[in-house]
Amino acid sequence: MKILISGTVQGVGFRPTVYRVAKSQGLKGYVLNKGSNVEIGIVGDAAEDEFLDALQKKLPPLAVIDNIEVVGDSIEGYDDFRIITSSEGKKTSVTPVDTAICAECVRELFDEGNRRYLYPFINCTSCGARFSVIENVPYDRISTSMHDFEMCEACHVEYKDPMDRRFHAQTTSCPRCGPKYTLYDKEGTVIDDKDPIATFARLIDEGALGIAKSWGGMHLIGTFDQAARIRELYGRPSKPFAVMCRDLDAIAQYAEVTEAEEQVLTSTQRPIVLLTKKSDELSAISPVLSTVGVYVPYSGLHYVLFYYLHADGVIMTSANRSGEPMTVLNEEALNLKADYFLLHNRRIVNRLDDSVVRCYHDQKFFLRKSRGFTPTTVKITYTERILSLGAMENVSSSISKAGTVYTSQYIGSTFHYPTVQFLAAGTEHMLKLLGLSAADVDAIGVDLHPRYPTQRYGKSLAEEHQIDLVEVQHHWAHAASLMLDTGVDEVVALAVDGTGYGTDRKAWGGEILCSRYDSFDRVGSLEDIPLIGGEMAIKDIRRLAFAFLALAGRDAEAARFATEKEAAIMAKLMKQAPKTSSFGRVLDALSCYLGICQRMTYDGEPAMKLERYLAQGKPAYEFETAVERHNDRKVVRTLPLFEQLAGYRIQTEREKADVAYSFVNTLVTGLVEIAAEACDKTGIPAIGITGGVSYDVPIVRMAETRVNEKGLTFLTHDKIPNGDGGISIGQNAIVGHLRNGDKGKDT
Ligand SMILES: [Zn+2]
Ligand SMILES: [Zn+2]
Ligand SMILES: [Zn+2]
Repeated sequence: MKILISGTVQGVGFRPTVYRVAKSQGLKGYVLNKGSNVEIGIVGDAAEDEFLDALQKKLPPLAVIDNIEVVGDSIEGYDDFRIITSSEGKKTSVTPVDTAICAECVRELFDEGNRRYLYPFINCTSCGARFSVIENVPYDRISTSMHDFEMCEACHVEYKDPMDRRFHAQTTSCPRCGPKYTLYDKEGTVIDDKDPIATFARLIDEGALGIAKSWGGMHLIGTFDQAARIRELYGRPSKPFAVMCRDLDAIAQYAEVTEAEEQVLTSTQRPIVLLTKKSDELSAISPVLSTVGVYVPYSGLHYVLFYYLHADGVIMTSANRSGEPMTVLNEEALNLKADYFLLHNRRIVNRLDDSVVRCYHDQKFFLRKSRGFTPTTVKITYTERILSLGAMENVSSSISKAGTVYTSQYIGSTFHYPTVQFLAAGTEHMLKLLGLSAADVDAIGVDLHPRYPTQRYGKSLAEEHQIDLVEVQHHWAHAASLMLDTGVDEVVALAVDGTGYGTDRKAWGGEILCSRYDSFDRVGSLEDIPLIGGEMAIKDIRRLAFAFLALAGRDAEAARFATEKEAAIMAKLMKQAPKTSSFGRVLDALSCYLGICQRMTYDGEPAMKLERYLAQGKPAYEFETAVERHNDRKVVRTLPLFEQLAGYRIQTEREKADVAYSFVNTLVTGLVEIAAEACDKTGIPAIGITGGVSYDVPIVRMAETRVNEKGLTFLTHDKIPNGDGGISIGQNAIVGHLRNGDKGKDT
């Protein structure tokens, strides 16, 4: 018989397992990688069930079987069982993901008698870099950047031995034959090529700033007391840095870790996890925030680094030029600001930022989904091949094929041209891994915003290859991403966000959408408020506070946020200012009013800083919203809240926390009230929360409490990012369903 198995079956030790199971049952035949699937041929009338049962029981830890299909009858011509060389085949599922070093490799790493003792590139069939090194499928060494290194005799023996842990481990190597690290100084002069990691660790402990090349990118590394220097060198006045700690015990000194968080921290993906800060020791690492991003070693390098380091935690944050994607080339790394550079000689094929997760109950909110998780796959019901390109910030691209949507790694903010280039390269690479070219795509989904670079890129592809282009409203895409994430066909979505282009050309962002895959109704929103000076008001949030207070008739308070001259200009600009119903902007204005943040220096800063106060606050103050009807839409007014806010005298931190909580809770209650009415009217049984503001755990809690009080189901994200990282997936689902529906009508 001939069997085709699809799923995560390459690069995870699948074929050796098949080999061992077949041998143990005395079977003859072969196993091979075919495209991104695995084909098994067996001579004679083998007991199919018995074989497949045994195989499923022995599956290697990273393997996932999606489908088993018997594709042919018995084969002939084999007098033994063999693993044979890959052949080109149908490419239906993408290569496996970068996977943290396994326990067995860690054990070998610190075994003095092992030939890979302290060798940072140690890996096996169960662990190591995958997506970051792959150029094409099938996943064989020749298709990875490990092809540049010829295996030595000892490695080859392991690679060929079906009973060895490294049997067919495509990226295996050792100190004799594999990549190596070299330590350079600022001038690019070699400092140490004998014990570069030991020397690097000593220098870091002594207070130097270092850059270290990892699997999918570079990290900037320094002890905690180097935070101020990094901030100055890189112009990041208060952006939080990620911290890598030696182990869970080390983390426990600085942050609280729940059971769910512990599991995510030590999973095979090892993302950065946002934890609640415990001590003030990390106050310079994530100023004012209640959380800090922490992770534990995931590669051999990290383990060896902490073996030498005295510090039990260091700043380890993406190394890049401001606004550009993470650096992957050695020559570019040497241009970054640091004292020492620990670089290796293996090419990074695919840039992979560290993933960032926040736990909510037992769910995951992905602030960034990349290393360890991508390419991400989600099952869908449409068959069209849709390419979708996201919005503006935190962009990813998604491609659907044969019942699955595949999402690229985190790309970044396409405000900067190098990121648009990365988007194009990342998309092309994903298409290639799926055996597609742009010309094979049935339709392209983009954001409705006419000035987004992703829309321009989509348009140019559509024109070049004569493909349909479909524009999708931003918050509808958020809602669809939540539907796909939670497996529902309709939801009343609280799409709470920064700003996204609305169908009325206004900037939306505090929306209640009755959402389905083929249509949506905007049943509610926050009140429109002016963005004085347009985009400028997003950075200079004093303009928001000024606008709210001036419109609420609180001129004296408004004057606190502008000089006399500025106030006169702002009052003038306010009349022609673009309008927004954004929830994020209300939080920004509140944060500014309470003196928590005066200016946005990184994405989401004012609201993130406000979150600490929301987390500590109680509903001790009275606030009341008003609801107005605009045709079919109910509008929750925000100006009255600012008017009431101005009536309170707020001095202590405690008062700030309570007033912030009371204010936001009133707003959330108002939104849930309208959403619940919509559920009543439409029969939709669930209210969900999505969009950038839905990373804010205190706000999600408020919404959950209100929704539960209504006896309705509350939906949140788990696999697809809440924020704009999930937009391309939502766009994909909407375009896919719209086109499938169209087809239904035609025939
Ligand atoms: Zn391993
Ligand atoms: Zn070797
Ligand atoms: Zn958004």
